[in-house]
Amino acid sequence: MEDNYRQQGLRRKLVNHLRKQGILDERLLEAFDKVPRHWFLDSAFLEHAYEDKPFPIGMGQTISQPYTVAFQTDLLEVQPGDKILEIGTGSGYQACILAVLGAEVFTIERHKRLYEKTTVFLQKNFPDLKIHTFYGDGYKGLPQYAPFDGIIITAGAPEIPQALVEQLKPMGKMVIPHGKGDLQTMKRIIKGDDGLLYTEEYGTFRFVPMLKNKEE
Ligand code: SAH
Repeated sequence: MEDNYRQQGLRRKLVNHLRKQGILDERLLEAFDKVPRHWFLDSAFLEHAYEDKPFPIGMGQTISQPYTVAFQTDLLEVQPGDKILEIGTGSGYQACILAVLGAEVFTIERHKRLYEKTTVFLQKNFPDLKIHTFYGDGYKGLPQYAPFDGIIITAGAPEIPQALVEQLKPMGKMVIPHGKGDLQTMKRIIKGDDGLLYTEEYGTFRFVPMLKNKEE
């Protein structure tokens, strides 16, 4: 797939915009500079790929707004070699950002066709990144690969999934947009060495819902 000077230039502008919005981690900004976001959108929408907006990716789903991806990733404080679980693979963009930061990414999608499409896309275009895709229910996580250094949920969760809390390492972090309605509160839940949970809140966001018992 193509990544020409114009697209690289638009990406550089997006990175500067994110910096102005308060994203200051240079490693993270570098990851945004490296991943061609326009590859994740239908070619008809190329012009929109570097706007700081969410975008429909078909099948009723959206690729999150770049600022939201940056904000959630920043809260996760990914270190190279970390094992990260993502709920809601969607287009695979968030998974790529995490993998470019050096994480080994395990990502779950409940929508079968989207899972299949994104798995093929990632294998073809990012064969060197450590991303493992799974079809299934994110509420259950992946106990067979646990524990994780970090868990990131990219759909609005009406409740905090207990199974996922259990799959966090001591001192692991979960970043989760939590709330029942259209709007959610971004929360970072840190599991103490003693197993106790510490919750921090980071403002209001809007996500598509994390659906229960509804693999399709
Ligand atoms: N991270 C994605 C954006 C995700 S949009 C990206 O970078 O493009 C939210 C995704 O969560 C949708 O694809 C939706 O199908 C999925 N989803 C919703 N409920 C889920 C569940 N219970 N388990 C796994 N995936 C779920």
